[in-house]
Amino acid sequence: MAELADAGGLNPPDGNILRVRFPLRAPFCYSVHLTPHFHATIQGMISENQFSLEHMVSDLEELVCTESPSRDVERVTAHAHLIAQIMERVLGSAPTLIDSPVGPHIHWQGGGEPKVLILGHHDTVHPVGTLERLPFSTTGGIATGPGVFDMKAGIVQAIHAVGALADSSHVEILLTADEEIGSHASRTLLEERALACGSCLVIEPSADGGALKIGRKGTGTITLSIEGRASHAGLEPEKGINSLVELAALIPQITSFARPEVGTTVTPTLASSGTADNVVPAFTTCSIDVRIALPEEKLRVEQAFASLKPQHPEAVLTLGGQIGRPPMHESAAAHLFSLAHRISSELADKAVEGVVVGGGSDGNFTAAIGVETLDGLGAVGGGAHGDSEHVVLETMPMRAALIANLCQELSSMAKRPPLGNVPADL
Ligand SMILES: [Zn+2]
Repeated sequence: MAELADAGGLNPPDGNILRVRFPLRAPFCYSVHLTPHFHATIQGMISENQFSLEHMVSDLEELVCTESPSRDVERVTAHAHLIAQIMERVLGSAPTLIDSPVGPHIHWQGGGEPKVLILGHHDTVHPVGTLERLPFSTTGGIATGPGVFDMKAGIVQAIHAVGALADSSHVEILLTADEEIGSHASRTLLEERALACGSCLVIEPSADGGALKIGRKGTGTITLSIEGRASHAGLEPEKGINSLVELAALIPQITSFARPEVGTTVTPTLASSGTADNVVPAFTTCSIDVRIALPEEKLRVEQAFASLKPQHPEAVLTLGGQIGRPPMHESAAAHLFSLAHRISSELADKAVEGVVVGGGSDGNFTAAIGVETLDGLGAVGGGAHGDSEHVVLETMPMRAALIANLCQELSSMAKRPPLGNVPADL
């Protein structure tokens, strides 16, 4: 992760891959700081004071208290209907619920020429029953509960942001049902809507301290199965084909596929082998996590895996999986981040930062098809996917204001043109 300097067009300390120059704050753009959380409204801008934290927390509580684990169609459907009700109340019109095998995707349209897509997901990684163990709570200004950070607070912020717009006709919101399990049922739809809108604001949780995500690695899992032959480990080990030994021989080759100098990591993560401690293991499996920063690394790494051969002539090696999410290159976020940087510096004491992260999201897909994409616009907090998921409540109105102003500016511009090719080098 390359953390970027926070203001003024500086290159990151490690000299890595930032080509964006941010406009310095224009002299006519100013805010009056009465308290750290009260800023006078700059003409035409939507201020955090226009949002009711109380209403946002009440909506957040409703969403967290309706669990929506991926693949649980019944619960994901109930959650979609709840979001539809909130949208109808806050936005004045209902979304379309688009059925899929993993539950409904939620699609709200402003009705005019689409120019900006707010993209999120409403499934969570938390299994049903987590809420019983970790009930929703707001203590000391921190909200906790399953999915609160990834990404129910982001959904609430986005809906309230669009509700604050004088003209929301150019905005669409798409909340998919399966981001946490690979987006297989939503990828075509989200790519189509991103292309139709021309710019994409992804409401995944922010990085540390509220930083936006301006680049993401491509991600994938390769699976490897080796079939050998079982035999008695004491009486006649020579008659077996030891699939575990075969895997062990392949691991150094696999790890050598990494090229950290261009951001490619190849990490064996899960393995399983054997049936008993006195049996030559006939079957061994291994999963390998692969991350890439350059699009062309996908082909190189996948071809390298395809070239692997077991040592024993009768051992059978089977490969599965792929690098499913292409990288989101910083060039895709450059324009939107410069807007967000300026807007946030006008709204608050400190402009948002932008960082490059290893994890993937649906922003990888929209960036890879040439749509300007800025990610990490969701909640401020931490602990995604774990028991410590939390959101800093006082940040919710400001994050909503950031999205609202981004939508407002993008709505006032001509539709953003498609991006050129991703630069081949870093
Ligand atoms: Zn997420």
